[in-house]
Amino acid sequence: MHILVVNCGSSSLKFQLIALPSERVAAKGLVERIGQAVNAQFRYTAGERDFPKKAVKAPDHSAAIQQVITALVEGETAVLKAKSDIVAFGHRVVHGGEQFSDSQLIDAPVMKAIKQCCELAPLHNPANLAGICACQEALPGVPNVAVFDTAFHQTMQPHAFHYALPPRYYEKLHIRRYGFHGTSHKYVTHKFAEVQKKTPDEVNLITCHLGNGSSLAAVQNGRSVDTSMGFTPLQGVIMGTRSGDIDPAVVFYLIEQGGMTVDAVNDLLNKKSGLLGFSGVSSDMRDILAAVDAGNERAALALNMCAYGIAKYVGAYHAILPRTDAIVFTAGIGENSGPVRAAVCAHLAGIGVALDDGRNMAHRGIGPVSSPSSRIPVWVIPTNEELMIARETYNLMQARP
Ligand code: ADP
Repeated sequence: MHILVVNCGSSSLKFQLIALPSERVAAKGLVERIGQAVNAQFRYTAGERDFPKKAVKAPDHSAAIQQVITALVEGETAVLKAKSDIVAFGHRVVHGGEQFSDSQLIDAPVMKAIKQCCELAPLHNPANLAGICACQEALPGVPNVAVFDTAFHQTMQPHAFHYALPPRYYEKLHIRRYGFHGTSHKYVTHKFAEVQKKTPDEVNLITCHLGNGSSLAAVQNGRSVDTSMGFTPLQGVIMGTRSGDIDPAVVFYLIEQGGMTVDAVNDLLNKKSGLLGFSGVSSDMRDILAAVDAGNERAALALNMCAYGIAKYVGAYHAILPRTDAIVFTAGIGENSGPVRAAVCAHLAGIGVALDDGRNMAHRGIGPVSSPSSRIPVWVIPTNEELMIARETYNLMQARP
């Protein structure tokens, strides 16, 4: 059975066609610059074969998904005999609010609830909705499944998810910690359990998803009990362009004393802070590391601040978990950067974390990077959110009457 996994941004559509249950990726790619005055760009890979990037017309997400489906079934890019070989769409949906603690087969009430969550994620959910509508229109009758970034964290208890505000702000405005990257935290949790020949409910982990956006989760018996992102993805550790945790009074100060508008502060904290803002070098960790190697002290301080903040969350989560089976690094930085893992773990000697330096720096793929003497094993597990979305979609399809 082929499932088309779709991840829509406001001007992009990422996709993977995955065969289940074999989990083979038949094709994948990206349509960028959807809805812009210039032509959209279409990148497509079938199996191992990369096709040259081409310009396509994609004034909206519907046109973009049509381009994708055409590529999947027609001409030299084809990997399917017919459109009807796509048995379901699996969608990444950023915000599921408190309504969804699991993936959902999309029907009218689910659609309505996703729309309601637009006010909580105004930059993301409308694009996700556009993608769902586009797929419904392109292949009517083919089921669509929503997999929410927030769902995995819905197991957090009230003492972990509330902010200390009067109750009406939660009751009327739904202000609380939601957490994000749930699909990734769940994927690496399940993968760790699988390689340990355990079930997910037998593992306790601290999962560190470090990418352009970063978050950590405390996972107890396979369930999220706390996570570093909050009401929005701005809270938590220092990220590529986001400040992470900051005293909220800084916002009032910037407005009252700094003469900034609310929009300007929003832009500053989300897009001009973090590694980029503090170092003045780049939001990309590879550029930061290169600058550190070239002797840039500001970049070195940015890296150390970032690593120190991650280590503080690890320490906090180790304290609240009854047992920590492993610290898991994942996503672009977590998977690929020995130097960043080393910088984080350098602040964790107090809880007995020790890396195997050679192994950590040379590591590729899945496996431990800690020394045998480490009191908590440290692992690297490459994430695969698309595969997790395909699995969730497959499971819901199998469960249908
Ligand atoms: P996103 O959050 O957009 O999905 P990714 O998970 O792909 O992002 O992570 C992107 C980040 O990973 C960038 O900061 C990039 O510099 C970093 N990255 C990728 N490869 C490496 C590497 N070899 N060393 C250090 N950082 C890396």
